[in-house]
Amino acid sequence: MKPALRRPKAWPLLALAAIATGFVVLGHDGRRVAQMLVLLLPALAWMAWPVRSVAVHRARRVAVLAAVMAFAADGVVRAYLLDTYQSAPDGAVVLGALANTNARESGEYLQMHWRTAALWCAVLGAAGYAVWRLTAHGLRRRSAAAAGAANDAADGGAAATRVEVAPRRAWLALLVVAFAFGALAHASKPWRRLHPVVFWTQWVDDAGDLRTAWADQQRMRDAALQHAHAAAPQVTRAGPSTVVLVITDSINRDNLGLYGYGRNTTPRLAAAQRREPQQMTVLRHAWSVDASTLPAMANMMRFGQPTAADAQHLLPLARAAGYKVWWMSNHDDVAIEQQHARLADEVEIVNRVPGRASASLDGELLDCVQEALEDPAERKLIVVHLLGAHPHYRLRFPGTQENPFDDAVDAVESELIAKARPAWVRRFRQDYDNALLYHDFVVAETLQLTRTVGRLAEYRAWVYVSDHGQEVGHGSDHVGHSPSTASGYRIPAIVWRNQVPADAPSVAERPFRADWLGWTVSDLLALQWKGQVAGRDVLADDYRWEAPVLPVKVRSYLD
Ligand SMILES: [Zn+2]
Repeated sequence: MKPALRRPKAWPLLALAAIATGFVVLGHDGRRVAQMLVLLLPALAWMAWPVRSVAVHRARRVAVLAAVMAFAADGVVRAYLLDTYQSAPDGAVVLGALANTNARESGEYLQMHWRTAALWCAVLGAAGYAVWRLTAHGLRRRSAAAAGAANDAADGGAAATRVEVAPRRAWLALLVVAFAFGALAHASKPWRRLHPVVFWTQWVDDAGDLRTAWADQQRMRDAALQHAHAAAPQVTRAGPSTVVLVITDSINRDNLGLYGYGRNTTPRLAAAQRREPQQMTVLRHAWSVDASTLPAMANMMRFGQPTAADAQHLLPLARAAGYKVWWMSNHDDVAIEQQHARLADEVEIVNRVPGRASASLDGELLDCVQEALEDPAERKLIVVHLLGAHPHYRLRFPGTQENPFDDAVDAVESELIAKARPAWVRRFRQDYDNALLYHDFVVAETLQLTRTVGRLAEYRAWVYVSDHGQEVGHGSDHVGHSPSTASGYRIPAIVWRNQVPADAPSVAERPFRADWLGWTVSDLLALQWKGQVAGRDVLADDYRWEAPVLPVKVRSYLD
């Protein structure tokens, strides 16, 4: 007996296609959306292919679920990276960060961003459930006898199993074309590379390659030193001197009491400035041109030309001029170590054990700073790389440090409430400010050591700068690194000298950009070399400000 014919229902297939398209559109645009959908076409076409065997039907459900969810996850991750970092996953910033991360940092990142992650996981979970239900409606063909039995068989999608379909030739031909089209797309390399499975496998490989490339950059360092010697740098100041360069992480100057913040986050630095107002220049309008560590560091060390072949690197330049250079760091960071730290004569990295939060407090570096200051070398450049307030904020101060900002509703809290910032953002702000309080202790201590340890009659300078800023509910409900808001770029920058400098009082009011830091540090080191560019040292009379090109709109650099 021939089974009755019923038209297969189109809506499950359309619903599946709609879900997949929704996620693809999240992470791709333009032609790429179409390419992605063509890559997904065979899976969708298979849904419309009448299969007979129960086993094949089940295998198809699993395969279609896997395919659609791979595309969905791809779309979500891409959308997240685009929103947070304005970058594709294979962009230099994201790939560099992935290659450079370690288990501890990933853990801290997740601790900080688990809300977003949980939200997207919930969305993917719900979509996965819907897709699984829809796959039950995959087209099936059975004999009359089987059809009768199948009506009782529990197979999830009751509706589908009862549909009897005799395939029409035209329909089958259309499906064959769809399969062929999809297969063709898979055969083309530029198309295939977009397939989530291929793309993300390649992505992990690329990050691994990058890490391997970083693992030994000795040749590049040798070349940098040679290049520095070729420029014949000289020290134009007679006698011994020491310059301490403190580079911190993720400090937004808007949260420093020293810069007028409503919470007293910098009692020690403020006291230092009151004590020696003429010797301590707080640059009020300091900006980073990068929102993350790697590019910021490259810019600061390489005079704002991180990729130019003929650009100098500050460290070998100082060494070639006769300085002994230290790099001491609380970062466990392969790229920074290979590209910068190892250019120094002495490298001290105190944060070698991932996961040991106690060992990663910046205060651990103070002994190293003291030892370097006591070193008898005539000329010294001491670079101190702090974790500052890098997320996760709670790990940036000792567990025993009470948070003075979390009990009463103060002006800062009221302002955040007025801006309708959610409670979790306000909570992060309190942690951030407490991290700054500990940071103030460490930074002020490095200044105090510079003032009091070793050969005090010599020339001494101390510079403090952050690699980039941080968004903690300033301009959006976002917390963390922030390429898309001005807060991601607003940094503190302070210069102290033991001799009263002849700076005009207006120096502190000049806008400053961190990618020009090298020129100012060279001034403090009294370096002179072939290829020096005038106008970029913020302390010099001939300083000529040029606004940087940032990915965000900045109303005024004098803000
Ligand atoms: Zn950073």
